[in-house]
Amino acid sequence: KLDGRGTYRFFESEMDARMQARRKLELDMRQALARREFQLHYQPQLQLESGKLIGCEALIRWRHPDRGLVSPLDFIPLAEEIGLIVPIGEWVIRQACRDAMTWPSHMSVAVNVSPAQFKSDRLVETIISALATSGLPARRLEVEITEGVLLQENEKTLQTLHRLRELGVRVSMDDFGTGYSSLSYLRSFPFDKIKIDRSFVKDLATKPDGEAIIRAIAGLGKSLGMTTVAEGVETAEQMQRIRLEGCTDVQGYLISRPVPTEDLLEVFATYLKA
Ligand code: C2E
Ligand code: MG
Ligand code: MG
Ligand code: MG
Repeated sequence: KLDGRGTYRFFESEMDARMQARRKLELDMRQALARREFQLHYQPQLQLESGKLIGCEALIRWRHPDRGLVSPLDFIPLAEEIGLIVPIGEWVIRQACRDAMTWPSHMSVAVNVSPAQFKSDRLVETIISALATSGLPARRLEVEITEGVLLQENEKTLQTLHRLRELGVRVSMDDFGTGYSSLSYLRSFPFDKIKIDRSFVKDLATKPDGEAIIRAIAGLGKSLGMTTVAEGVETAEQMQRIRLEGCTDVQGYLISRPVPTEDLLEVFATYLKA
């Protein structure tokens, strides 16, 4: 069928197919906000000492018309690259604040803020506006950043972090331990919370030193006055070990998978009864 249209052969090379797929994803993503295809799921965090749920992390989902549910791992990097993360991230912050207002008043909501979003001048204003519009007290909002934000550490990054802190917003270091210099970043800003990356929790069962690492991070958090959350806790054994090693909180499938806000009240109720 393509005979005589040799150029198409070239354009249909594998490389080009990938680029077309990417281009299509980009076009779709540009429409997704207006079409209300994004959705937030929430995953609760459990405070070990009290046995209470203390907050939830907002995790974005994209309900694509033909692809179904697209993982953030598959579109956030592209959104960052083309700058769409700024409007998408703004939507996340506003929606998360609104949703959190329907939860018990001691519960906080954590949003992930990516490097490109952090660099944009709008972040602090967006947060101020989202808090004001929703009525959510600043202390109930938490911003999660990864090492990527601090990688281009400069005056402005630190200034933004301090402005958030002055507002009363809490700041967490996400995926702790996976980067090259997690430790030195702890020195640059007084985080409220360290989120220990899921890979360390996984190592508990498989690596002989798995526990020592969790214990060291928990101890570090304690000395620095930061809470420590273990991410990706899937089994009761892992939770038991994590408790023994001194982490303050856990998050993971064992407590609950990320769920839409409508389903959260049921999860909250289970823990209230417990
Ligand atoms: P993250 O912030 O480290 O979020 C934790 C990820 O671990 C989530 O994946 C969550 O569903 C998953 N998880 C939680 N508990 C368990 C467990 O017990 N076992 C396993 N196997 N996985 C668990 P998810 O939702 O696919 O999000 C992936 C990443 O995408 C997030 O990692 C975050 O970096 C990014 N992301 C998600 N939502 C947003 C957003 O609204 N904005 C930005 N900028 N990034 C986001
Ligand atoms: Mg996170
Ligand atoms: Mg994480
Ligand atoms: Mg991550």
